[in-house]
Amino acid sequence: MERYNRQASFAPFGTEGQHQLMKTRIMIMGGGALGSHLAEQLARMGVGHLTVIDMDVVELSNLHRQALYDEHDAESMSPKVEVLKKNIGRINRHVGFDALHVELTPRNIEEILNVYQPDIVLDGMDNFEMRFLINEACHKLGIPWVYGAAVGSKGTVYAMDYTGPCLKCMLDIIPDTGESCAINGVLPPAIHQVISYEIGEVIRYASGEGFSKKLISLDIFTMKNQTMDIDGLKDGSCPVCDRSEYELLNKKESGPIEALCGGTYMFRLKRTAFDSAEYLPGNIKKETPFVKLISYKDIEMTVFQDGRMNVYGIPSDDLAYDFYRTLLKSIR
Ligand SMILES: [Zn+2]
Repeated sequence: MERYNRQASFAPFGTEGQHQLMKTRIMIMGGGALGSHLAEQLARMGVGHLTVIDMDVVELSNLHRQALYDEHDAESMSPKVEVLKKNIGRINRHVGFDALHVELTPRNIEEILNVYQPDIVLDGMDNFEMRFLINEACHKLGIPWVYGAAVGSKGTVYAMDYTGPCLKCMLDIIPDTGESCAINGVLPPAIHQVISYEIGEVIRYASGEGFSKKLISLDIFTMKNQTMDIDGLKDGSCPVCDRSEYELLNKKESGPIEALCGGTYMFRLKRTAFDSAEYLPGNIKKETPFVKLISYKDIEMTVFQDGRMNVYGIPSDDLAYDFYRTLLKSIR
């Protein structure tokens, strides 16, 4: 307990809150900027157990804002969750840690929540559709979750336990501006602010205070921050919290190609694509047990164990579909 003295001395949290935190299981969805900082801070504070889900490997462009990753991890194309597991173990060996190097989808989200049984889910995602999927899955299973987003100099945080509005109820208040980190950039302090409020909500939860029931908006450039009471924002006709209709969760089919931010495409290929990567067009430039990097003309591909492939350097959707068909023919 001594190592947590400083935070336990904060009376509203106290040793009771600390003991509660040490029993709390947190699931962090996404291991990028928000997710890596959330994991580090919660591990330092002595949370009971962390499960982090992320499908990416460390890249050089991550390092300016993401915690616990270094140049060596980027060079070796290490999966983020594996690096987190190693480093979290060094920070606090008492924290349980499960690393899930998978894509979170409507097909697996419920099973993952059921298997790992988090008390709270924290948002470390970077796109709106995923957050509405989390909203549906967590509502269905009755798991409190904290929405957190940072883009540019701005951030938003909202923790929900379904006594108040869910994310869908707030759709008009938190609109999808189409902004993304790849296009609009993101300033590291905006991330730090967002994770601070997300963890603030976890501290309130462990203290027995419950979530703040406030929508928090911040801007670390204009320095304008706002806190909005969400009483009265619950939508009486919300399909999620009024009728338990889970549109995204029931959409079990994912298309074969998805355009990611920053001009990257994700192809969903058969699992055998990883093992038989030598049959794909181009040359394997680098390989690890988790990922293979293939170069073909102006195109670069990273193929993962589950058959996912990130493809860089394709200028249009049509060409992406053409290339996808070419790949299909070469996979055994
Ligand atoms: Zn709702």
